Amino acid sequence: MNASPDLKPISNLLRLLAKDYFIFAPQKIGEIIKVAEIKSASDIDWSGQMPENPWKEIFLPPCERIFDLSGGIKESKKQYPKIAAVGMNVLDLKALALFDQVFGSDTYYRRRRNNTLIVGYSADWPIDYKKFKVFSHTYEEDILEHLSFDVFLAKLKNGKLKIYSGSEKGQNILEASGSKDYKHIEFAGPIQEKGVDKRVLKLQGVVWQSANNKIWDELGKICLACGKCSIVCPTCFCFDFKDNSDPNNNCRQRCWGNCFYNDFSLVAGGNKELDTIKKKIFFWYVHKFVRIPQEYGLPGCVSCNRCTHTCPVGIDIAKNIRRILKGNK
Ligand code: SF4
Ligand code: SF4
Repeated sequence: MNASPDLKPISNLLRLLAKDYFIFAPQKIGEIIKVAEIKSASDIDWSGQMPENPWKEIFLPPCERIFDLSGGIKESKKQYPKIAAVGMNVLDLKALALFDQVFGSDTYYRRRRNNTLIVGYSADWPIDYKKFKVFSHTYEEDILEHLSFDVFLAKLKNGKLKIYSGSEKGQNILEASGSKDYKHIEFAGPIQEKGVDKRVLKLQGVVWQSANNKIWDELGKICLACGKCSIVCPTCFCFDFKDNSDPNNNCRQRCWGNCFYNDFSLVAGGNKELDTIKKKIFFWYVHKFVRIPQEYGLPGCVSCNRCTHTCPVGIDIAKNIRRILKGNK
């Protein structure tokens, strides 16, 4: 396990954050690393291990009240807390880049996002990005230019932190904390200058062509359709609307959807497109590896492997992708 970095250069920054923000960070709870609200900076886990849960709840709550429906349709008024997301790794920042594209013009998302300060972290810069065993896209040397963060802390071999700012907000807070020794990185957009990543394009074609691969029959037989993989996936963003008709609490909510659940593709008349587990799991892969790249030019899977670790029957996405790449074997 990686030792903690030398935190002296950011001690003022952490104090400032604790004063003005609710801080969410990876935290060791028992044997598990989870993203959770922390009470003190000393609770932060700096090991760089992938947290079991994703950060998406901060930006897209599992259920969010969006309209009050009593006496006409009115936007639900709410306070958006100031949150500091401290310790997001490069893969989670990549997932956030996708969320920014998908929900970029969504009022609720934007308000939450604007109230959040992102502090990225690498526990072994720049090697840990490679250590995550990325299978869904190609290693990017200039990855920081294509990630949206306010501050990025890169722990070097000697334990020292190299500090980057990635926005005006990041520069302001670093200056306010007295930090002078940082480098500014201009955000160049989520897609590399040379265009959509080659590996993403390759997987797009191969997964689309794999409808008759016997892997889908096999996975259809073992998958329990429990939906845990989608809950922990940092890029799963499907949602559903739920209306509450209680006259005292008449409202519309936007809640996470899950393509493994029974009501996911249910339409009027009771028809369902995804009426077998085989279809559900194929749809999940097609959405991630075909449709998201087509629509946004970004990978729909960032290789965090959370789905593999959480799957109760051991379905391993990296192994499946390797198999699909080999053809019908
Ligand atoms: S976690 Fe595993 S068993 Fe559950 S829906 Fe996902 S792939 Fe299927
Ligand atoms: S590895 Fe699994 S959990 Fe992680 S982004 Fe890809 S599909 Fe989602």
